[in-house]
Amino acid sequence: MAYTSLVTGSAGFIGSHLCDHLLEKGERVIAVDNFGSGNKENINHLEGKEDFKFIKHDIREPLKLDEKVDFVYNLASRASPADFDKFPVEIMMTNSLGVYNIINVAMEHKARFLMASTSESYGDPEISPQSETYWGHVNPVGPRSCYDESKRFSEALTMTFIRHHGLDGRIIRIFNTYGPRMRLDDGRVVPNFVTQALSGNPMTVYGDGSQTRSFCYVSDLVRGIYMMMHSPKAKGEVINLGNPVEMTVMEFARLIKQKSGSDSEIVFKPLPENDPLQRKPDITKARGILGWEPEIRVEEGLDITMKWFHERMQKAIE
Ligand code: NAD
Ligand code: UDP
Repeated sequence: MAYTSLVTGSAGFIGSHLCDHLLEKGERVIAVDNFGSGNKENINHLEGKEDFKFIKHDIREPLKLDEKVDFVYNLASRASPADFDKFPVEIMMTNSLGVYNIINVAMEHKARFLMASTSESYGDPEISPQSETYWGHVNPVGPRSCYDESKRFSEALTMTFIRHHGLDGRIIRIFNTYGPRMRLDDGRVVPNFVTQALSGNPMTVYGDGSQTRSFCYVSDLVRGIYMMMHSPKAKGEVINLGNPVEMTVMEFARLIKQKSGSDSEIVFKPLPENDPLQRKPDITKARGILGWEPEIRVEEGLDITMKWFHERMQKAIE
C-alpha cells in the first residue's frame, strides 16, 4: 500500500517542492499551510490530484486528521530574516507550540517525524565549516533570536520526544537553499539580488559583502530530506543538509550580475545586527549516513532560478 505523508509548510518554497517529490515517489500527500509566507500558486498544479489533499490550517492550533499518516515532515515556519522584525511572536509560537502540535500528530499516528531546523541553530559561528557537534554561538536576546532560538527549542523538543516518549524522529539543519517558487519580495538574498539584477535596479549588498554563505539548489535539498526520512540509520540523528561550496555575498552579487548581463550598480547597505559572518556546512555526516551530497552547481541552479524569476516578473507586468 502507498505511504501517506503529512507536509506542513506545503505552500512554501521548499514544502511545495517536497510535495512534488513525494507524489512522484507514489505517496499520498496531505498538505498543511496557513498561507502566512506561502503562496497558493506553488501548489495550484497539485489541486484535483487524487493523491493530494490540502488543509488550510495554522499549526499553532492542534491538528486532527481523519486519515492515517505514515510520515510527518514539519516545515511550517517563516524563514526570511526580513520577517523576523514583522512576525517575531508568530515565528516563536510556530516553532514551539506549533512543533508540539505536529509532534503530537506523529505520536498519535505512530508516524515517523522529521523536523526542518536550520543552520541558524549555529548562530554566528566561530568555527567553519559547521558540523553537527558544534553547539553554536547564538545571541538569545538579539533580533534574530525569535527564529534561531525557537528553532533550537524545536530541536530540543524533538529530541526530548525521541528520548522520553518513543518518537521515531530526526532533525535536519538546512543551510541556505534557493530555487524557483521563492517569493519575489521574500527579502532573502537570492530573490533580492535576482529581481534587482533582472530589473536593472541597484543590487543591495549588506555590510561590505565579505560575509559568506553556501547555496544549495532546492532539488538537491529535497532529495536529501527524502533520504533522511527513509534511511533507517538516520533515526534519532541531527544532520546538516546544504551545499558546502562557500562564497562571499559580494562574489554572489557579482555572479548574478554577470549571469544576467545586468548593468545594475552594486550598492552597500548596513549589515543587519547579528548577521552571521560565515556559514558553510560540514556534510560528512550526510555523506556517511545518507550517501547524500549536492549535485547541482550554483551556476546551473542559478540559471534555472533566474529563468523562473524572469518569467514571474514578466507575468507580474502583464
Ligand atoms: P517559506 O516561507 O517559503 O515556507 C514556509 C511555509 O510555512 C509557508 O508556506 C508558510 O505559509 C507556512 N507557515 C508558516 N507558519 C505557519 C503556521 N503557523 N502554520 C501553518 N503554516 C505555516 O520558507 P522556506 O524557505 O520554504 O522554508 C521552509 C522550512 O525550511 C522552514 O521551516 C525554514 O525554517 C526551513 N529552512 C529554510 C531555509 C532556506 O534556505 N530556504 C534554510 C534553513 C531552514
Ligand atoms: N543580504 C544582502 N543583501 C540583500 C539580502 C541579504 O547582502 O539584499 C545578505 C545578508 O546580510 C546575509 C546573506 O545575504 O549576509 C544571506 O541573507 P539571507 O537573508 O538570504 O539569509 P540568512 O543566511 O541571513 O538567513
